Amino acid sequence: MEKPPIATDVVLSAAEVEPPLVPPHGLDEIIGVFGDIREYIGTDGQLEARWQLEFLAKAALPFPLRLSWDPVRTETRMTCLRRMTGIFASVFTRIQEGGLQASVTSFGGCFAFRRQRTGSKLSAHSWGIAIDLNPESNLQGTVGDMDA
Ligand SMILES: [Zn+2]
Repeated sequence: MEKPPIATDVVLSAAEVEPPLVPPHGLDEIIGVFGDIREYIGTDGQLEARWQLEFLAKAALPFPLRLSWDPVRTETRMTCLRRMTGIFASVFTRIQEGGLQASVTSFGGCFAFRRQRTGSKLSAHSWGIAIDLNPESNLQGTVGDMDA
């Protein structure tokens, strides 16, 4: 068994915010904007380790988040697309500045190589461009979930 790659550590900071991306719609636009993940899927259907090495980063969260699937555990870092770390940082900054930190009660994850829950297309989580905050209740005012 190959050891999973360690994604590069980065710190979420507003200084890293890139010019706003135009949110892509649909698989073709996601591939065009964020990279063709299909080239990184092996013949066994598994995502190759070089996807994480080339595209993903481990980002420190500004405050600990309780895991939705294991509520006794909290997470202080998340794996996401490196290009999105600035955008996610500004999302968390806006949550904090809006006094909404206490309203974020659970974290459903960011990067996860999987199909959409409804259908066979790859989920936006495969790129590490979607984060699930309060997945049980889908709190409004958080970053959109592109699974739908
Ligand atoms: Zn999601």
